[in-house]
Amino acid sequence: MGSIMANHSGFNLYPDLPPLPEYQTSLLPSLIPGIPDKLLTLILPIAAYWALSMLFHWIDTKDYFPQYRLHTPAEVSSRNKVSRWEVVRDVVIQQVIQTAVGWGLGMTEPDDLTGQEEYDVAVWARRIRIAQRAIPGLLALAGFDVAGLAKTLNPSHPVLAGVVRGGQYSDFQPASADHGNLYITPGFTMWEKTLASALYWYFVPAVQYGIAIIVVDTWQYFLHRAMHMNKWMYTTIHSRHHRLYVPYAYGALYNHPMEGFLLDTLGASVAYKLAGMNTRQGMWFFTASTFKTVDDHCGYALPWDPLQRLTSNNAGYHDVHHQSWGIKTNFSQPFFTFWDRFLGTVWTGGDVSARYEKARVAAQKKRDQLNENTTITHSNAGDSATQDPRPYQDDMKNARDLLSIPLKDQQPLPPKGKAELQAAGSRQQVLDDRKDGGPQVLIQEAAEEKEARSLLRREGRRRTASSLSQTDSLKGLKDRVTGSMHGRAGAIIGVESNR
Ligand SMILES: [Zn+2]
Ligand SMILES: [Zn+2]
Repeated sequence: MGSIMANHSGFNLYPDLPPLPEYQTSLLPSLIPGIPDKLLTLILPIAAYWALSMLFHWIDTKDYFPQYRLHTPAEVSSRNKVSRWEVVRDVVIQQVIQTAVGWGLGMTEPDDLTGQEEYDVAVWARRIRIAQRAIPGLLALAGFDVAGLAKTLNPSHPVLAGVVRGGQYSDFQPASADHGNLYITPGFTMWEKTLASALYWYFVPAVQYGIAIIVVDTWQYFLHRAMHMNKWMYTTIHSRHHRLYVPYAYGALYNHPMEGFLLDTLGASVAYKLAGMNTRQGMWFFTASTFKTVDDHCGYALPWDPLQRLTSNNAGYHDVHHQSWGIKTNFSQPFFTFWDRFLGTVWTGGDVSARYEKARVAAQKKRDQLNENTTITHSNAGDSATQDPRPYQDDMKNARDLLSIPLKDQQPLPPKGKAELQAAGSRQQVLDDRKDGGPQVLIQEAAEEKEARSLLRREGRRRTASSLSQTDSLKGLKDRVTGSMHGRAGAIIGVESNR
């Protein structure tokens, strides 16, 4: 477009400071020609959601990474209380709501402008210059002879001498030429310009994204936790998301519309506003949050997925929250886990379930060979005995319906201590939800657990048997050598060999 939006004259209110450049702003050209940024901000998160979901769906149907699956494919159909079609339908409904709210938000936002960047950098350079005024005082406090020091430094290091004098670059005056006019007042030094530029282009945006992440994590943690602590909110609103006991990628935004609006849409909008982002920044932030949410539900613990390596909040961590024994733990979403850790709601029972079938087998092999503790869910079973039981101290006492469930249907058994209380509270919550929960969920889960455990045992026996019978044969020797090599190599690069 290029139309002039504003014309700022560079008259100088502070004659002792270098002047600010004049500038003219115009509309920022859209990222993709023909599609306004405000429209792209609505489209991109939805496109990202389905693109990443379809990638995981393809990996899932082709079964490319069975060793990293958190659940068996059979579990997806047997344990989930909702069909894939209903999930798609409700996600689309949520995305329609999200788009409508986003449209409203976009209407109230100013358009992104360009042209004022140099001016803004100069404003930062001025702040740096003003901040330097404190330096002589501080040096004097520390016992330096400021004038003498500046004089000594001046011949060899004129810029440093200027810093010591508190930003007085009298002997070093790079004139700033702007629009053909030569200013007689001193300009900014190179280091001031570089630092100002770094602050404007990198530091400030990084702080903005940091604020937005903290706001969205905080918003989601407390609302999400409230939905689990209040029985009415759980059974009427949030239990819908928990129909997915075995999450998959595009189930990430499968929610009651009220929850989708409150938690995801409103949370992201508030974060965007509080961080003071412009449209372009919001576009990346909404898209990144969407990617993270999808990845947290993907059903795979992938050692090389950057989204899973960046923070401890990942698919393994959130999967615990979808199990009947862990539903009242691991509330944090989508980026970090700090609120769970500060407020004692992290699952403390370790990788309690054997249903992380193949990954467990691989992890077990590694453990046999290295005696090393590996974890998929970022939980160490030892924490259960040592950690403060709050806020679960009454959960065992309050789990009245759970008393009528035989222990054989309460598998897997968590370790003693806090994890026991967490599992009791979680299972009681599943029983409270008559519609999508109930005893059937526990019975099914226990049956899966039993099957997975017997599979693990069979696998263990088979390995022992084969290594014994082949001890003396050359093939046996070769197998054992390559086997142990695999184990070592796997341990070094941090992935399990899939044999
Ligand atoms: Zn939940
Ligand atoms: Zn979830």
